Amino acid sequence: MNSFRYYQPTEILFGCGQIDNIAALSQRFGKRCLLVTTPTVPELEPMFKRVKEILGKVGLDVAHFDGIQPNPTTDNISEGAGVALSHQAEMVIGLGGGSAMDGAKAIAVETSHDGTAWDYLFYRKAQPTDKTLPVIAVSTTSGTGSQVTQVAVMTNTRDRDKSAIYSSSVFPRASIVDPELMLTVPKHITASTGFDVFCHAFESMLHSQASPYTDVLALSAIQLVVNYLPAVLENLSDLEARTKLALADTYAGLCIANAGVTLPHGVGMAVSGMYPYVAHGESLAAVYPAFTRFSRSSAVRQFAAVGRILDPGLRTFSEKQAAERSCSLIDDFLDKIGLATTLKDLRMPEEEIPDLAVQSMKLPDYKANPRVTSADEMLELIRDAYAGKK
Ligand code: NAD
Repeated sequence: MNSFRYYQPTEILFGCGQIDNIAALSQRFGKRCLLVTTPTVPELEPMFKRVKEILGKVGLDVAHFDGIQPNPTTDNISEGAGVALSHQAEMVIGLGGGSAMDGAKAIAVETSHDGTAWDYLFYRKAQPTDKTLPVIAVSTTSGTGSQVTQVAVMTNTRDRDKSAIYSSSVFPRASIVDPELMLTVPKHITASTGFDVFCHAFESMLHSQASPYTDVLALSAIQLVVNYLPAVLENLSDLEARTKLALADTYAGLCIANAGVTLPHGVGMAVSGMYPYVAHGESLAAVYPAFTRFSRSSAVRQFAAVGRILDPGLRTFSEKQAAERSCSLIDDFLDKIGLATTLKDLRMPEEEIPDLAVQSMKLPDYKANPRVTSADEMLELIRDAYAGKK
């Protein structure tokens, strides 16, 4: 067995009603806080109001920045950092899906460092320091796992580039995962965020830094998504099933914080960077059929394990047979959750396929895949994902 390191500094409060503890958590970091969310729309307004009331009751001085758009942009981050500075915020609370939580992390960096958050991307020389304002993450989707990761994703719309800060200084100091906050997530977003959980868990198993520890979490997360995502899609108010998905999301977040993601996420990030209207989970769904067929023979054990979760009858088949079958089982699962799609369906212009192939190799995710693509193979894979070739 290979040696491994597992690190997780975030305190996690999990369960229904845990949002009431946001005041006690926040009081540890001062009196003045910036609450970061996506825009205040009617379905989210009661949640925002409730959180502000809980914080206000203990005397915390809250400024609410609700200017984070899904797939947050560098402009959103700079605007939020401006609000944090003028409010003299001592902490940042991200309340929402990955966009709000990542927005909060990036704002925490930009507020406390020279330049902009974009200057502190994972590959740059300058890295965020412990001057970064403390972040508390409250997840309202299941999800991106951002409540337990050292990652803050953002998009530079001028360069059509989606990239990330990756630094232990942006790990949330504490996170709240309260499934009651997820009851309002609409069906399509429930499906795409739920599939993101599946991808985090599966790709962490394929990642070169996978460990027995992350594998246990990943297999549990995949089992939970397979069992409970269809149930939530049948009944969006099923709190028990929502709770299981929130657990899966948290397990999968712990996996990516300690192993990582592979090829599909590199492509998915490139897709949303070039076409910001595409939800993260949708971009993954479009690339999965081509990715599974490309990678399967290089990770037979992992593909077989996932195949056997999707179809327990495969336990009596050989690993190789189970791995082969897993590709079409994953297609079937995408179909079942209403997410079978292609890059063409996502309105990507066909003439931009070569650009997308180049952009998909900009992040190092493809290098952590069990089978590493050449530039030509990436181009072929993007063509297949465009056409929906299986
Ligand atoms: P999101 O945060 O963009 O939210 C999608 C939509 O759902 C938004 O309109 C939002 O307002 C709405 N929404 C959120 N919670 C809701 C609720 N409870 N009820 C009703 N509506 C709700 O979606 P996401 O998939 O959670 O996050 C995507 C972002 O996270 C992308 O930028 C992605 O790249 C990033 N991401 C980050 C990490 C990480 O580790 N930091 C990992 C994966 C993805």
